[in-house]
Amino acid sequence: MADDYRPDTLGVRAGGLRSDFGEHSEALVLTASFVFKSASQAARRFANEEPGNIYSRFTNPTVAMFQSRLAALEGAQSCVATATGMAAVATTAMGLLSAGDHVVAARGVFGTVVPLLNQILGRFGVETSWVDATDLDAWRAALRPNTKLLFAETPSNPVCEIVDIAGLASIAREAGAILAIDNCMCSPALQKPIDFGADLVVHSATKYIDGQGRVLGGAIAGRRDLVDGPLFNFVRTAGPAISPFNAWICLKGLETLRLRVEAQSARALELARWLEAHPKVERVNYPGLESHPQHALAMRQQSAGGAVLSFVVRGGREAAWRVIDGTRLASITANFGDTKSTVCHPATTTHGRLPPAEREAAGVVEGLVRLAAGLEDVADLRADLERGLAAA
Ligand SMILES: *Cc1c(COP(=O)(O)O)cnc(C)c1O
Repeated sequence: MADDYRPDTLGVRAGGLRSDFGEHSEALVLTASFVFKSASQAARRFANEEPGNIYSRFTNPTVAMFQSRLAALEGAQSCVATATGMAAVATTAMGLLSAGDHVVAARGVFGTVVPLLNQILGRFGVETSWVDATDLDAWRAALRPNTKLLFAETPSNPVCEIVDIAGLASIAREAGAILAIDNCMCSPALQKPIDFGADLVVHSATKYIDGQGRVLGGAIAGRRDLVDGPLFNFVRTAGPAISPFNAWICLKGLETLRLRVEAQSARALELARWLEAHPKVERVNYPGLESHPQHALAMRQQSAGGAVLSFVVRGGREAAWRVIDGTRLASITANFGDTKSTVCHPATTTHGRLPPAEREAAGVVEGLVRLAAGLEDVADLRADLERGLAAA
């Protein structure tokens, strides 16, 4: 695909492989393996002397289309897809790290990343230090001679802290470490971490890339030497590959990604402004609000605030639960990135396993409610929140 096409064109056209049938929509090539014309062709394919598909764990045309299109949107040299977002994080860690290596990671990352690094990678001799994502001095102070990977998510979920990607990229470069950014909350529709110096972008395609809550998927996009080398090798060998069906859903999701995410983000901004003025709301966390402590940084990195916001209701857990139970439109579920708005209570769900002191320090207080805006009419969503808040 020509490099000079703009993102909207790439989202619809990049990575389009076509079969002899002349199909217009991208084909779902649902097959486990591929047939060779001869034994010698099979040998050439396996020896990497001839390009072509072999087996869907590591070569599949539908998966290849998804990877190329996401790479084009992220401005990445290459991309490898995985079964889930966690498989993408695990592949990044297992593909790049060896026993004796050290990782510095942001405290506010997706909850499951913590036991992955501390417990599972810990068993293989990898040590992780956890730092306040917004404090670049803390990142610098945590570096060791064996630091190999810096890992952060921006904005963070659910309190929407912003990491200075360019600042972190220069720290990583000085340390000779790889910077991986989880871009799940914004998607390339709103933020392209590679433009700010990230080496790798990690995705849960389960969120905005599918965008309709249907399938699980993941991907890592970035430097070709890393993606086509150790990361692809890990997926091929260990097997956390995406199903061609899920890749097809995600591929088609990319065609409407910007339209959806921008519309959802506009709804979130309107709701955030309304919540900020509500007497029962103590605080709203949303990078698109001028009151967000890192608003200026967020607006340098992101073209909009994103679709996820959180707010603190006066009256703690009891009040927060009443707000959630008082809504009728928003779905009570821990997922986000869907066309349907979702609401949850992080302190007793997604962050329930953290020790209370650690949770509070991270801003996940008992009164916190997370809302991920979908594509419903914003007036209906506002009325729903009003209904919830009236019950608090
Ligand atoms: C959901 C999520 C993940 C994990 O993705 P799965 O597809 O559920 O495995 C990783 N990072 C972030 C920011 C997420 O929201």
